[in-house]
Amino acid sequence: MKVTEIFYSLQGEGVWLGKPAVFLRLGGCLAPYCPWCDTRYAWDEARDMDQEAVLASMARYDCRTVVITGGEPLMQWDELAGLHERLIERGYAIQYETSGKAGIPPIEGATVVCSPKYIDHAWRIEPQTLSRAHYFKFIYHDRSSEQAIMQFIKDHHLAAERVYIMPEGSTRRAQLGLMAQTFEFCRQQGLAMTPRLHILAFDARRGV
Ligand code: SF4
Repeated sequence: MKVTEIFYSLQGEGVWLGKPAVFLRLGGCLAPYCPWCDTRYAWDEARDMDQEAVLASMARYDCRTVVITGGEPLMQWDELAGLHERLIERGYAIQYETSGKAGIPPIEGATVVCSPKYIDHAWRIEPQTLSRAHYFKFIYHDRSSEQAIMQFIKDHHLAAERVYIMPEGSTRRAQLGLMAQTFEFCRQQGLAMTPRLHILAFDARRGV
């Protein structure tokens, strides 16, 4: 499979906020690309690794929690499915982070977090597979995000417990600039807010 990086850190956002985890970032994504993407390097910066090499690299860390992210990791599900089984055998708790652009396969034994992308006035998802996600993480860009997010929640009958709202920001300054607005929106709508802890702590540094 195409692997961009494997590193150990804390999950900076969403339902596992603050948890130590190994991050397996897979390369590749698909159009339309998000103008605010902060992992552009993953679009085409990746090396081929087989399952053994990935497992060995992950085993360097004394941590049995893994976040599989991208890029868009589920583009590589054909290769990933076997690794998924082996991670479960080894006792890993697994979270997938996906945009939903490539669809979501049935995945047993993992937490699937979908962050739908609103690009050029449309949600770029495969709607028929969305019910396979456990949680949804929406990016708050500006006031115009509010109506689109609430409409999505309504259209897909999402319970508030499954929803997180995260201010856009690949720098500390950008994220802090949207904090108050995002906070107000979440308070009004009764939705959970998540920061991006790694950005607040380290700004735009990679690998944390
Ligand atoms: S889906 Fe993720 S990796 Fe792909 S362009 Fe959007 S933010 Fe970047």
